[in-house]
Amino acid sequence: LISRKWRVEPTRIDLGDGVTVGEGSFSIMAGPCSIESEQQIELVVAHLKENNVKIMRGGVFKPRSSPYAFRGMGIEGLQMFHRICREHGIKIITEVMQVSQIEEMIDYVDVFQVGARNSQNFNLLDALGEAQKPVLLKRGISGTIEELLQAAEYIFSNGNENIMLCERGIRGYENAYRNILDLNAVPVLKAKTHLPVIVDPSHGIGLRDYVSEMALAAVMAGADGIIYETHQKPEEAFSDGQQTLNFDESARLIRRMRQTYALR
Ligand code: PEP
Ligand code: MN
Repeated sequence: LISRKWRVEPTRIDLGDGVTVGEGSFSIMAGPCSIESEQQIELVVAHLKENNVKIMRGGVFKPRSSPYAFRGMGIEGLQMFHRICREHGIKIITEVMQVSQIEEMIDYVDVFQVGARNSQNFNLLDALGEAQKPVLLKRGISGTIEELLQAAEYIFSNGNENIMLCERGIRGYENAYRNILDLNAVPVLKAKTHLPVIVDPSHGIGLRDYVSEMALAAVMAGADGIIYETHQKPEEAFSDGQQTLNFDESARLIRRMRQTYALR
């Protein structure tokens, strides 16, 4: 169902209030790895508004490698995130980790993110297929293109056609950076499916100094959008500070991405 052979026209996802993802638009989704406080949300929202970015990312349920690391503010954090974003007309993308969270989260999100670690959680994918909310599905940590497509097929075949695929880097032997951002995936996915393709250069390379260049490369490769991490003080971020842009870097990247998209 997600194949170009079955449907030729590219999928366009409507998030409401004139915000769409896919064909005909270039989407920027930015924000912290984790939602941390009311003040943090307000600072990020102000930064996004200044730069005309309509979608904010931020995790409240965080899949952390260590159980002792910060695991997110939970549902109260999401309610606060939602209240502030609604006041300012900003859409929310945030990660859902398990089936039981869908119901409590659904009224407070615009896009559910499925993280790399849950990319083949088939019960979660089935349940998101039944939920009427757009989904951004990340590629698994060692996931193949075919596995990503089949994971999307779980969601689509349950009745939810509003799916974005996300390349976020795969694990290889190279350890000079966090992951290997597989930009090959962008044109290949675009050819194989009608779904929008989003790239996450923050998790893809994992080092702040190189995130912007990889984001621009992804734009030239044909991505429909970029999702990346930004924070008012990356060095104090509760998670993923090492790959998070400060607001100056973020503003510069936004300008350069728009210029690059215009060249396509
Ligand atoms: C995230 O977006 O902060 C995240 C945990 O991403 P991933 O699932 O790609 O590791
Ligand atoms: Mn992160």
